[in-house]
Amino acid sequence: MNDLAVISDIHGNLHALEAVLADIQIRGITDIVCLGDIVGYGAQPVECVERIRALGCPTIPGNHDSMVACDIENLSERIRPTMEWTRQQLSAEQKSWLASLPLTVEGDDYEAVHASLWQPETWRYLITADEARLHFKLQRQPVCFVGHSHQPRLWVEGEEDRSETLGIEDVRPGRKHIVNVGSVGQPRDREPDACYVIYSRPRREFRFQRVSYDIASAQKAIIAAGLPASYASRLEIGR
Ligand code: ZN
Repeated sequence: MNDLAVISDIHGNLHALEAVLADIQIRGITDIVCLGDIVGYGAQPVECVERIRALGCPTIPGNHDSMVACDIENLSERIRPTMEWTRQQLSAEQKSWLASLPLTVEGDDYEAVHASLWQPETWRYLITADEARLHFKLQRQPVCFVGHSHQPRLWVEGEEDRSETLGIEDVRPGRKHIVNVGSVGQPRDREPDACYVIYSRPRREFRFQRVSYDIASAQKAIIAAGLPASYASRLEIGR
């Protein structure tokens, strides 16, 4: 089996998405999985939805996609203006595509969910060892890819979790792994470059890839759209 590229948390940042897809293409990788949060925060949700749809790859929704698509009314004041702006941008057809996505996908040797296999529809963060244990109980495949926290991380069942600078990580034979692939469009690990993961089956390894992109242009687009300036400023510090 070939290499698999796993991308997540694009958040309407087309500049970051294009840079990551170009990096994937240069490596000759054609198998891609998208873990959702295609929209929210960033200025180009429409373009990002269309770019992902055109890939025709397995795609699951994140909490932002679900909030936008399902017209949930009890949004927090903090998030409401951006959600309403994003809803106005997307067509009814794009929203129904987002609403139609399954919460989990399973391939021959992996599964994927935006937040956690433990009650995926409640979008719980998978951060503590207890949260990882709950998830592992439900994981059937040796590897599960997750996003949501925007922080690359690796858990191996029975080992301490890893969140320090991740590079190339070996697949442990006979063990279950949770791989948080980080965020394409809004990294929060104090590293502003876009992040994604290559699951290399031939080499039995996970490669956490960082890709630099035109942050200034993504910031300008956020300001020009009238979205909160904090969504622009956080991109350059990776928070
Ligand atoms: Zn997100």
